[in-house]
This record gives sequence, C-alpha cells and structure tokens, in this order.
Amino acid sequence: MDLKPKRTEIIPLDEKGLDRAAKTLRRGGLVAFPTETVYGLGADATDDTATASIFAAKGRPQFNPLIVHFADADALRRHVEVTPLAQRLADRFWPGPVTLVLKRRPDSKLSRLVSAGLDTVAVRMPAHGGARDLLRLTDRPIAAPSANASGRLSPTEAAHVAASLDGRVDLILDGGPCRVGVESTVLDATGDAPILLRPGGLAVEAVEELTGKPVIHSLHDETAPKSPGMLLSHYAPGLPVRLDARTAAEGEAHLGFGPIAGTVSLSPDGTLLEAAANLFRLLHELDDPSRFTGIAVAPVPETGLGLAINDRLRRAAAR
Ligand code: AMP
Ligand code: MG
Repeated sequence: MDLKPKRTEIIPLDEKGLDRAAKTLRRGGLVAFPTETVYGLGADATDDTATASIFAAKGRPQFNPLIVHFADADALRRHVEVTPLAQRLADRFWPGPVTLVLKRRPDSKLSRLVSAGLDTVAVRMPAHGGARDLLRLTDRPIAAPSANASGRLSPTEAAHVAASLDGRVDLILDGGPCRVGVESTVLDATGDAPILLRPGGLAVEAVEELTGKPVIHSLHDETAPKSPGMLLSHYAPGLPVRLDARTAAEGEAHLGFGPIAGTVSLSPDGTLLEAAANLFRLLHELDDPSRFTGIAVAPVPETGLGLAINDRLRRAAAR
C-alpha cells in the first residue's frame, strides 16, 4: 500500500480559492496564504486543536507564541487591551508589516496556545489585499507563523511553501511573490514606549519618527538580565510543577495523560495533538493556590508534538 502523504493543492487566490480557503479554516484546517511580508501558515486562532496542528505541521520542537492576524480593529479590541501607544502605532502603520504585542483580555476566546501561555498576544493587520479578503471571509482571527518547516527559510512564494510543507497543510493559496519579503517588525506596545522584539519589514526609524524617541531594543537573549520588557520569558505557573508523576501527592493537582486520568487530563486517549491543544489552558486552570499546593504532571512521550510539550513542561518545572 502507498502511504506517501497526499500532495497539497496549490490554488489561485481568486474568489473561488478564497471561498475554499475560508471554509477550510472554519473547519479547523490549515491554509498557507500570502501576506505582504512572507507566506503564513494559518489556522483559526480560537480553535485549540487547529492551533496545535500548526506546530505539528511545522515540526517545531518548541511552542513559540504566534502572531494573530485580524481584518479590522474592532475584532481585535475584543481580544487585547489597546494602549494609547498601540493606537498611535496602529493609526500610522496598519495595515502593514508591524506586529504589536499587547495584553490579552481575560475574556478573550483566543487559544492560549497562540500566547504560548503568556498573558500577551501578538497581533497584526496585514496590508496584503488577498490576506485581508481571507480574514474577512473567514470571520475569525487567524494565527499564522511563517509557512515553513522548522529550521527552513521563510517562504515568499507559494512554491517555497510546497517545498517545505507539502502534504502537511490542507491548502496553499497562491497570490504570487510577497512584496516585503521579510517578517513583520515585532514591537511590545503594552507600555508607554515601544520595545523592539524583532526587527522586520517596518524600519525602526519610522517608529522613532512617530514617537520622537529612540526605540528600546530587547535582546532576544535568555541570559541577558530580565527587564519588564523581556516579554519573551517563558510562562511558568505560580505553583511548583513536578514532572513524570504517575500519582499526585496530597494537595497536588494531577495533570493526566492517556492511562493516567489525573484531576484533569491533557488527553484521555493519549493523543499528542489534543494534549498540545489543552496544555496551557489546563495549566492555567490548575495554577490555583486556593485549591492546590502544586501541579504534578503525568509522563508525556518524547515524540512528535511531545517534544514541544515536554520542553514547555520542563521550563515550567525549572522555576
Ligand atoms: P513567526 O512565528 O515566524 O511569525 O514569528 C513570530 C514572532 O513574534 C516571534 O519572534 C515571536 O517570538 C514573536 N511573538 C509572538 N507572540 C509574542 C508575544 N506574546 N510576546 C512576545 N513575542 C511574541
Ligand atoms: Mg518563522
């Protein structure tokens, strides 16, 4: 029997293509689509399983927070706190190649996986007409990292996406080459002054011209001294976390997996995709000192998405 994965269809970004892509996204599927920066690997950002499948397709051994794309500002306001600084940046540079990291609203329905457990979300309004049509038609926020397998270059043409992710995404929308060709500039806009988290398609000088001040650069260096601006620090629950726990001690919450039921389970039938989809939400739920003294976590296999799950669990336990 031929077990080769199905080839992914590349379809033109026209009315028919957009309609199919929007339906695929609303069903929880993965669609690669062009933006002005690079091609994104999109999934419904309110769907835990769809978001987890982004990481499965990319083969990333880590959960990095994902940029969530919106068609308009009103939809965005339901999910993040728009600071006065963010408003100024948005008025000047959106739609366009700049991403703003903002505080997540407590009532946001975005998957916690898009924030990799952090209390912030990176949001962007792309300038690409096709991307905006897709966002409007889908009528959901779309989480999208660059549409390449982990360790490969960011794709700026549909053929690059196919070369790297063929058979691992449901659909590739071909809208021609990307105009900007590099990723978006990522700015932390939670405070009074923007902090550069990643240089990209929008020049830092343009931001400095708007604010009249030099932009603070955050070094993406985990050994650098932690400042309040180091938003890339990893999520860890307040309660102590204990790994490879087949049983819980008295007072501990038990996060189960497969045959180990626990207080709640990452995945009762031992599916790694389901465990990834539930990971951050359940950790947040159990991180409650009024109910528990700690969180014991059942063993999770070190294969496929289990690598990323265990990476996060080890960081959570290392604190
Ligand atoms: P990519 O996945 O290639 O589109 O890259 C996304 C970039 O945005 C990475 O550099 C992430 O670390 C950054 N990012 C996304 N969400 C956040 C967040 N909540 N806080 C800080 N950085 C973020
Ligand atoms: Mg990338």
